[in-house]
Amino acid sequence: MKNKKKEKFRIPLSNYFAFIFSIILCISCFIAGLIVCTSFLWFYQGEITVKITVIICILVCLLVAVIGSATMWFGSRYLIKPIIKLRDGFRQVTEGNFQVAIKRNTNYRGTYQYTNELDELTENFNRMVKELNNMDYMRKDFMSNVSHEVKTPVAAITGFTEILLDGGLSEEEQKEYLGLVNEQSIRLSNLCENMLRLSRLDNQEIVPQGDVVQLDEQIRKTVIILSEKWQEKEMEFHLNLEKNHVKSNADLLFQVWMNLIDNAIKYSDSVKRIWIKESSNANEIIVEIEDEGIGIDSDKKGKIFDKFYQCDESHKKKGNGLGLSIVKRIVTMLSGSIQCESEWGKGTKFIVRIPNNK
Ligand code: ADP
Repeated sequence: MKNKKKEKFRIPLSNYFAFIFSIILCISCFIAGLIVCTSFLWFYQGEITVKITVIICILVCLLVAVIGSATMWFGSRYLIKPIIKLRDGFRQVTEGNFQVAIKRNTNYRGTYQYTNELDELTENFNRMVKELNNMDYMRKDFMSNVSHEVKTPVAAITGFTEILLDGGLSEEEQKEYLGLVNEQSIRLSNLCENMLRLSRLDNQEIVPQGDVVQLDEQIRKTVIILSEKWQEKEMEFHLNLEKNHVKSNADLLFQVWMNLIDNAIKYSDSVKRIWIKESSNANEIIVEIEDEGIGIDSDKKGKIFDKFYQCDESHKKKGNGLGLSIVKRIVTMLSGSIQCESEWGKGTKFIVRIPNNK
């Protein structure tokens, strides 16, 4: 334990204080003793009695206190420097400035991780501010995405309803515009629903995992619910599902399959195939959802789980870029993982792993 601490700090503050105090004490004693003794030798010729010795001791003590305090006062100004820098840094953070960074004194660090505890505090402060800055950026980015995503359908609805109110349209044209208004309202409603769902999930710390879910059955149900969409495109489903029961959260898992299978249908052309395989081992259940759709560019693959991210502008009509963020959040909450393998123009495979809790 002691060795570990030594490697971390060049001079721990406790050692530093002990060293400084003893040095100051020794030097002040020496100086005070020297001053008092030489003064007595010069100005006092009488006998050295007990009374005189006591007076000399009292004078030495007084001088030690004065010299020691003065030296400590000057010395502590050096020690307090990083604390003052931290105080100013914290003040700036409370005023909303997340760009501050406190320069660390690297002169005496050598091969050690930190010079002392204050150096570690400074490093942690810099890390905290960096993290806050990232969160602030994400918050602003999220807000601008939300307002952009909301504005577009609202502007479309306003435009179409104005045209309808102006009148003079044939019945067929009226129907067409009403259809567009309906499409945009559904888009807006889906966006609100997904934003609420994501915000709820982001704020949820404890996930109830008391449901016994028959996974193969749940996946089959999801495929049936989405049948209107894939039958319209004349797509084929190939299911290879093991009978598996798992203790988890039924609603959240359902949402995962729903979003992934819906995407597989959305991002595939007509007459394509989708494979769903579900298998298990002692530790985990593995669900693979594979399509032969448009695929994802390798340089965009890293961003697909980001909020509001869509690989292509042409996908705007198909969704709002929140589906995979929701999936990722749920899988993380359930202590699982998700992986994406994809090749542009060939297809995509999502592999979800969840703990095989019984
Ligand atoms: P969206 O609501 O736009 O579908 P998602 O968060 O579900 O948002 O997906 C983010 C983006 O990832 C999509 O816009 C799409 O470009 C891409 N994507 C997701 N799933 C697939 C898939 N199976 N095949 C191809 N691209 C996909």
